[in-house]
Amino acid sequence: MTAPSITAVPFFSPELFEGDREALLEIVHAVGTGPEQKFILGERTARLERELAGRTGARAAVACSSGTSALTLILAAMGVGPGDEVIVPAFGCAPLAATVVDAGARPVFADVDPVRLTVDPAAAESLITSRTRVLLAAHMFSVMADMPAFRELADRRGLRLVEDSALAQGGTLRGRPAGRWGDAGLYSFVQVKTFGMPGEGGVVVTDDTALAAEVRMLRNHGQDGVHRFVHHRIGHNSRFDEVMAAFQLHRLPGLDGRLARRAEISAHYSRRFAPLAERGLVAPPEGGDGRFHYVYTVLTECRDALRAHLAERGVAAHVYYPRSLPAQPAFAPYARPGGSWPNAEAAARRNISLPLYPNLTDAQVEHIADAVCAFTETSAFTETSAFTDTSTFTDTSAFTETSAFTDADRGRA
Ligand SMILES: *Cc1c(COP(=O)(O)O)cnc(C)c1O
Repeated sequence: MTAPSITAVPFFSPELFEGDREALLEIVHAVGTGPEQKFILGERTARLERELAGRTGARAAVACSSGTSALTLILAAMGVGPGDEVIVPAFGCAPLAATVVDAGARPVFADVDPVRLTVDPAAAESLITSRTRVLLAAHMFSVMADMPAFRELADRRGLRLVEDSALAQGGTLRGRPAGRWGDAGLYSFVQVKTFGMPGEGGVVVTDDTALAAEVRMLRNHGQDGVHRFVHHRIGHNSRFDEVMAAFQLHRLPGLDGRLARRAEISAHYSRRFAPLAERGLVAPPEGGDGRFHYVYTVLTECRDALRAHLAERGVAAHVYYPRSLPAQPAFAPYARPGGSWPNAEAAARRNISLPLYPNLTDAQVEHIADAVCAFTETSAFTETSAFTDTSTFTDTSAFTETSAFTDADRGRA
């Protein structure tokens, strides 16, 4: 029956900012009573941008109102519009396709790798046409996309590369931070992301200073920051809040510690779940290059039974994307007729994420791991998984220069 509340583990922590409450109130007071009465795009925002640029080694960082907005601004700054195609993952969050449609361009869905769950570079390449302007790769759950392959592909085909690293802050691949492989990358600061905050915000990071200048203009109605009410381009309202900038500056020194705790929990899950692979429960590998620790996602054909099993033990698990993007009512009209995305469909059917946040206690982590392991002993699991694919994650440190997937893996029409 229902576990006692001592073991109840919510999917997202309600206490992420518990230790920062006083600081937040002081910041609200300081900004609210400051002589400048500047609540957006002030010196605190500028300082946060400098800190984040320094931390990631980017020439420029431009704070904006959300991760979604960061994508919108990047596409607009790149001049993406009607008649253009942008290749996007067939599995992932709505903004991957919605921002492209909003720009007036067409999202072209590419299938994902079956275990990494990130867009497959070979599938993306097979979809390039004379109208393709941008490749949009996104990191997923805890695994970075094959960015070396995407970088090579974009350079070889003369395309722009946008790296949706909204949830991957803190990840690195071959020593290069997530967000720094594309012509532009981004981070979301929405509450639950790895550098989340109590509000909405995001940032664009890039080495392309001309692109950064465009993004800077576009986030504030196309003004250049010098001449007010001169609008060089049709822009957006995507400004950044000074209270949130001060709060992020306050939280920045603790970020590495929180990321390390996330990595520790993730490694513990991986150690516990490694023996489950042969039974058909697929977990990401322990540690490794190209990983980050946003949520911990496993794949199983009986994920609904797993979710119920966990709920009975007080553990809230989360299914992020129960449908692929081409199967969403909003995006189906943009999916190519007759197209198929078998890996995205399988991911939608099989993904389930476990709690992963820095303030989980060791006892909670063990309780979650025990509950998952116990599930694989139940008949609900053993009877289903006898018939299913037991492929395991490939070692993500083995990213190849060019992709090695076969034609059969590609989501071609
Ligand atoms: C969270 C997220 C976004 C959107 O960020 P918001 O700040 O919520 O708008 C975009 N892409 C990915 C991959 C995300 O995880």
